[in-house]
Amino acid sequence: MKKTIRDYELENKKVIIRVDFNVPISDGKITDDNRIIQSLDTIKYAKEQGAKIILMSHLGRIKSEEDKEKNSLKIVASYLSKILNDDVLFSESTRGDELEDLINNLNPGEIVLMENTRYEDLDGNKESSNDPELGEYWASLGDIFINDAFGTSHRSHASNVGIASHLPSGIGFLIEKELNALSVLDNPERPFVVILGGSKVSDKIGVIKNLVNVADYILIGGGMAYTFLKASGLSIGKSLLDSENISFCEEMLNKYRDKLILPIDSVNAKEISENASTNECFISDIKEDDIGLDIGHSTIKLFKQYLNDSKTVIWNGPVGYSEIEQFSNGTKELCEALKNIDAIKIIGGGDTAAAVINFGFKDAFNHISTGGGASLEYLEGKSLPGIEIISDK
Ligand code: AMP
Repeated sequence: MKKTIRDYELENKKVIIRVDFNVPISDGKITDDNRIIQSLDTIKYAKEQGAKIILMSHLGRIKSEEDKEKNSLKIVASYLSKILNDDVLFSESTRGDELEDLINNLNPGEIVLMENTRYEDLDGNKESSNDPELGEYWASLGDIFINDAFGTSHRSHASNVGIASHLPSGIGFLIEKELNALSVLDNPERPFVVILGGSKVSDKIGVIKNLVNVADYILIGGGMAYTFLKASGLSIGKSLLDSENISFCEEMLNKYRDKLILPIDSVNAKEISENASTNECFISDIKEDDIGLDIGHSTIKLFKQYLNDSKTVIWNGPVGYSEIEQFSNGTKELCEALKNIDAIKIIGGGDTAAAVINFGFKDAFNHISTGGGASLEYLEGKSLPGIEIISDK
């Protein structure tokens, strides 16, 4: 068990909290504040406990001087100040006198947000390659380190692993919530059904290999399903094909034919476009010039049969090209079905999270992970370095 923020006496301590403020910004406006909202419990708790709060986060990627301006966290400092109804100081530097003075003058309960940790990437990728000097320097600014950025916990960066190597450390409430939700994998109530979709088989190989040993069934949809269908000897027209992984799919189908449930019909179009007209057919009838872009009605019915009996469901990857209305039906129908099913239902981040929230099904799920890559690596059975490094209880 990892230590949490509750395991420390925070009063009057300089507490560095690594948050995930990597929010989308367009025309100088934050277009989705979910990650900021998700970090509030930890920040508010630290404030109530009388901590001197130092917030750190990355935002986007910094490869050139021009990237700096559009990825400054200054706008997030003002936004946070507004929603907390409290002052949030901002340090324009990621090291040096300005940052140190702001921190050393903090009173208990006061908050400073440091500029984007990845500004340090311009000078030798220091943040992203976990430069030892940088981690040690940032750690020297605080007394306690709390990691609450689940979305970057699968990476070893100076602002998580680097700092945690030098300070007493714990996880914040968001990471605790994510770990509690994903820990259903350790002992899932059965039947345990996994829904996998999305584009490429290559992205999901690790997840399939790991979960095929734990799940009762894996329902496969999305672009990746067509490589499995090809591997089982069917023609898939111009549908997405991950040719390098056909043999992997063959091997999986040979070993786990009863566990891996493939689509039996498909919604197709000649082009991926908002104006595309669609046709629906059994897989064996897909025409040479068709692109399969969603699961059809018979597959939805088939998948629902597995879901209706399930007690635990984990879903990663939309089962169709759900950004376009004509190909979103399968994903919506599975959301609708899951809404009415009494099971533990978890969305493993990324595109599926966006789809489910956009379609208005947020409340149908017990947990929607905030970390796409991190939750995927967790589902692969890998340990997450940003969490691994945190002190044990
Ligand atoms: P991933 O990031 O691997 O979860 O993939 C998500 C992406 O897969 C989304 O952008 C979907 O539009 C896309 N996708 C889902 N189904 C298909 C399909 N049948 N063909 C091509 N792309 C798809």
